Amino acid sequence: MSVEVAGNPLQRIALLGATGSIGDSTLDVIRLHPDRYQAWVMTAHSQVQKAFVQCQQFQPTYFVMVNPQAAQELSQLLKSIHSKTEVLSGDSALVDIVAASEVDIVVLGIVGAAGLAPGLAAVRARKRVLLANKEALVMAGALFMAEVRRHQTELLPLDSEHNAIFQCLPLNCQTVWQTPNLIEQGLSRIILTASGGPFLKTSAAELSHITPEQACAHPNWQMGKKISVDSATLMNKGLEFIEACYLFDIPPSAVEVLIHPQSIVHSMVEWRDGSVLAQLSQPDMKIPIAYGLAWPARIKTQVPQLDWRQITQLEFCLPDTQRFPCLQLAIDAMKTGGSAPVVLNAANEVAVAHFLAGKIAFIEIAKVIIKTLEKMPSVPLSDLAAVWDIDQESRALTSEFICS
Ligand code: NAD
Ligand code: MG
Repeated sequence: MSVEVAGNPLQRIALLGATGSIGDSTLDVIRLHPDRYQAWVMTAHSQVQKAFVQCQQFQPTYFVMVNPQAAQELSQLLKSIHSKTEVLSGDSALVDIVAASEVDIVVLGIVGAAGLAPGLAAVRARKRVLLANKEALVMAGALFMAEVRRHQTELLPLDSEHNAIFQCLPLNCQTVWQTPNLIEQGLSRIILTASGGPFLKTSAAELSHITPEQACAHPNWQMGKKISVDSATLMNKGLEFIEACYLFDIPPSAVEVLIHPQSIVHSMVEWRDGSVLAQLSQPDMKIPIAYGLAWPARIKTQVPQLDWRQITQLEFCLPDTQRFPCLQLAIDAMKTGGSAPVVLNAANEVAVAHFLAGKIAFIEIAKVIIKTLEKMPSVPLSDLAAVWDIDQESRALTSEFICS
């Protein structure tokens, strides 16, 4: 429900994952457009201090802190400064709040499988959904997109590659909730670009000694730890491959991955007539976020324009799936279909968490995912309950492999 402010409808935002990297970038855009956007509800898992500072700056009506103890701490801090923000807690609060009638736009900036339930709730409530959380589509792409179509929900991708592709589609093809078949419309191929991560030029031998700090030091993007490790293993591009197939309803054969170390071309769309459309910009998530918030209008982001005098080279090459097997694992999981992407995602989340905790080596990540995939042959997914069962079973199995 929008409120008219000085000619512009004020859009109320539910910012899920406010304390993360997507959360920060979204708040940067909101800060630039206080007449257009209001952070009505913000959410986090357990980062009390950051949430406290954000509540003082943005004064949301609600803050959902999933962890109950963290929620209590935040609530006490806010009371001590007589803040009007009400603190809610628990996973169910997250699902309920996105459906509130006051919410116009839901920014899904939660990391991992935890984004699926609130994402689906937002889709079913017919909010404009800005999707950063790729794991939701990897786990339940077919079911998720069926709900988007059934409810005619505006789903706008924030992942920079998918946002780039979205920007390159003609307006009548952008509305994924009613999109005509893109292949019939003349699309021949989508090219997902990948920076290659911090180890693009690292030898296979050196990859065995990578530390979490090195893996999280991405050359072009500032991101959360999980996606940073995914970028270093190229699993991120694998997850994005699956995301692209579901989001744009195209077969795996119509998606290609190219390494592009400069991260200026964020992805490309090839058309039947030989034309290629690309979206180029500085690598800054404020651009896709602003596009999603204002679509189809464009609003300022304060991201500097590209300086063409400085851009002397735009390089492209094929990825090395020998050194980075995770990319191929994800592509194969998409081709296999059924539960394979769910297993892949769950095993990856567990493996990355153990790598970040110093429990397994960088190169073990792919190995434990392979073991889990081998033990969990693909089965058809009838409903969401089946997705969660496979997710839980895969997590338990991966943990067992790691601890044995
Ligand atoms: P992050 O780790 O910086 O932030 C994650 C946010 O999710 C935090 O606010 C955290 O409190 C919240 N969260 C974590 N676990 C939760 C749980 N169980 N329940 C509820 N909330 C929980 O991550 P990020 O880099 O902002 O990435 C968020 C999502 O966006 C990921 O799916 C990532 O793949 C995607 N994405 C991120 C970027 C980027 O530039 N950071 C780009 C493209 C896509
Ligand atoms: Mg991306």
